[in-house]
Amino acid sequence: MFIKSRLRLAIQKSGRLSDDSKNLLMRCGIKINFQKSSLIACAENILIDVLLVRDDDIPGLIMDGVVELGIVGANVLEEKRLSRYMKGEQVIKYEILQNLDFGICHLSLAVPIEMKYKNILSVKDLKIATSYPYLLKKYFDKNNVSFNSFVLNGSVEVALNAGLSDAICDLVSTGATLEANGLKEVERIYDSNALLISQNNSKISTEKKYIIQKLLTRIQGVIKARESKYIMLHVPESKLKSIVTLLNGAEQPTILKLTGHTNKVALHMVSSENVFWETMEKLKELGASSILVLPIEKMME
Ligand code: ATP
Ligand code: ZN
Repeated sequence: MFIKSRLRLAIQKSGRLSDDSKNLLMRCGIKINFQKSSLIACAENILIDVLLVRDDDIPGLIMDGVVELGIVGANVLEEKRLSRYMKGEQVIKYEILQNLDFGICHLSLAVPIEMKYKNILSVKDLKIATSYPYLLKKYFDKNNVSFNSFVLNGSVEVALNAGLSDAICDLVSTGATLEANGLKEVERIYDSNALLISQNNSKISTEKKYIIQKLLTRIQGVIKARESKYIMLHVPESKLKSIVTLLNGAEQPTILKLTGHTNKVALHMVSSENVFWETMEKLKELGASSILVLPIEKMME
C-alpha cells in the first residue's frame, strides 16, 4: 500500500545502478524486502517507500512531483533537463543532494579504429547513433559543428557495425567494450556518476525533510567509510610527523606507548584515503613496522 506521509525514493529496477542503490540503502541500515515483480518496496524501520522503475523515468518523477527522492545517473538527469529545455518545456527545479560513489562512466564519441580522426571536424555532417541526442547536440553546438544523429536505446555499437551510422555516442567505463567492437574513443562528451536527487526543497514537508536529512547523513557516512581505512602501525618517534602527513588523517592520530621499545610508538588513525601498497612501502621505508590496514563499516562525525 502507498501511504502519502511516507517518503518516496525511486531507484532503477534492474540495471547497472540497481545493486549499488539497494546496497547503499542496506548499508544505511534501511530494512527492505525487495520482491522480484513488485513496483514498490516499503522499508520496515524508516518511513520510506522505494519505487523500482526504469532509470530514464526517475528525473521526470522528481520534476513532476511524484517522488521526493531518486537515485539516477547524472547523464540521464542532464539529458532529461536538456530535452525539456531544448523542446521549450518547463524545466522544474530539483536539487542534487549528493554525488554517489558508483555508476561512474562517461559519455563518449567513438569511431572505427581505422578512421583517421584529427578533431571533431573529422565527423562533420556524419551520422551518429546515440541514446543521448541532447547531450550530443549540446557538445556539437558548443563546438559549432553540424552533424546528423538518430536515437537508439541500447546496442548503439551494433548500429555502426551494421553500417547504419559512421560514429556512435555511448557510455563508456573502461573502453574495453568499444575496443572489442573495433571502435576508439575520440571525444569525451560528459562525465557521469550516480546522484541522489530530490524535488525542489520548497515542495517538501518539514516531516519529510527530516527523514531526508537523516538518510543523507547516513549516506555520507557510508561513502566516507568506504573511502577511509583504519590503520595501525609501529613507528619511530622521530618519523611521526612525516608518517602522519603521508597518511592524510581524518583526525589527530592516537599514539600509544609500546612496552619494551624505547624509540618506537604505536600509531592508530583513520586515513581519509585508501591505503595502497605503494603507501605501505613508503611507510616501511620511513621505519614503520607491524602495519595493519582495516576497513571501516560506519562513520559519523
Ligand atoms: P533501464 O532499463 O532502467 O532503462 P538502461 O539500459 O537504460 O536501464 P543501464 O545500462 O542499466 O541503463 O545503465 C544505467 C546507468 O548506469 C547509466 O545511465 C549510467 O549512469 C550508469 N552506467 C552505464 N554504463 C556504466 C558502466 N559501464 N559502469 C558504471 N556505470 C554505468
Ligand atoms: Zn534507461
